[in-house]
Amino acid sequence: MTKGNGEDPKNGSRMERFQQGVRKRTLLAKKKVQSITKDDVKSYLLRNAFVLFTVVAVILGVILGFSLRSYKMSYREVKYFSFPGELLMRMLQMLVLPLIVSSLVTGIAALDSKASGKMGVRAVVYYMSTTIIAVLIGIIIVVIIHPGKGTKENMHREGKIVQVTAADAFLDLIRYAPLGILFLIAGKIVEMEDMGVIGGQLAMYTVTVIIGLLIHAVIVLPLLYFLITRKNPWVFIGGLIQALVTALGTSSSSATLPVTFKCLEEINGVDKRVTRFVLPVGATINMDGTALYEALAAIFIAQVNNFDLNFGQIITISITATAASIGAAGIPQAGLVTMVIVLTSVGLPTDDITLIIAVDWFLDRLRTTTNVLGDSIGAGIVEHLSRHELKNRDAEMGNSVIEENEMKKPYQLISQESESEKPLDSETKM
Ligand code: ASP
Repeated sequence: MTKGNGEDPKNGSRMERFQQGVRKRTLLAKKKVQSITKDDVKSYLLRNAFVLFTVVAVILGVILGFSLRSYKMSYREVKYFSFPGELLMRMLQMLVLPLIVSSLVTGIAALDSKASGKMGVRAVVYYMSTTIIAVLIGIIIVVIIHPGKGTKENMHREGKIVQVTAADAFLDLIRYAPLGILFLIAGKIVEMEDMGVIGGQLAMYTVTVIIGLLIHAVIVLPLLYFLITRKNPWVFIGGLIQALVTALGTSSSSATLPVTFKCLEEINGVDKRVTRFVLPVGATINMDGTALYEALAAIFIAQVNNFDLNFGQIITISITATAASIGAAGIPQAGLVTMVIVLTSVGLPTDDITLIIAVDWFLDRLRTTTNVLGDSIGAGIVEHLSRHELKNRDAEMGNSVIEENEMKKPYQLISQESESEKPLDSETKM
């Protein structure tokens, strides 16, 4: 039935309701914007002060580092200058071993064997598949870009050994104490070789590694998170900023572990039973950034040696790069050491690692950040996949708490009757 003017009354009222809804929502949104007060901004800044502080420290570190480069400090002076940063590293590293052991123990204890088994399998499947994807990205990118065109003769080699002095021993004495990322970064920039030395091939190699890591960190991992959990990956990654910046500053996924725990549990609200079980293992064996870099660097070294790799050798590189990344410790430049395995597996000269040392301190920071991101997204995915077991376990725990309280009741009644005349309300409500 339609009205005289030809309008369907049902449709008309629906339209009105829709428009009213839109008006209401617009008003609410306006009110919300208007009601953001100074206090809200203040409390937001306070809540995120640590993250902001860490980001500012990185920026200041970069500025300070570049401005001090013109002073041409000696190697020893640079070491003294970066000492506060070294203190921070030591402090974080000091936390790592007890943290790994205690979190694994509490994580496994909080789960039954079936749930922890399933969770373990999910974590390992995630680690293996993301590592293999990372290796493939590394190989494809380096083959496409071919940064090693030309010979290695005009490439700079680096490597120096400096004598230990009494002052080093003195600094060793006070290595317990906390201090900042600012000095870690500034110190590295001051220490950095002249940019001019980093020739065309090495610059192309650096860009290639950066592109590979970006593809993995900005496209593959967030996409995987979205496809599996159907949640916005950027919100999840936003909660990890402090851990990512710490990884960038320390070049060590193990040293970043305490911060990663904090971000995942306190900001992203990931279940502690998952983080404690999955993160320590992830930080030790799951290194997507390192795997990508090892495969890419090995092929780069083959390219500068004009060494044609056949398909079998590329497969060998993929397998050994995966193994080398699993074997690498979560400490600065560990990947550079385990790269010897990859190079020897296809008969490439291990000496040529010195060709890429000049830029490794920088690339190490980027691959460590990718490693930490991979571990964290893994924890989010494993939590999502294990949600049913976690809920069941919660229900079981809930039941046992109720049962325990039921068991306690008669004793409570007896003891309370004899002790006082207090009402039993609060106990029996449970
Ligand atoms: N520094 C990296 C990490 O701690 C390991 C590496 O050298 O690739 O995750």
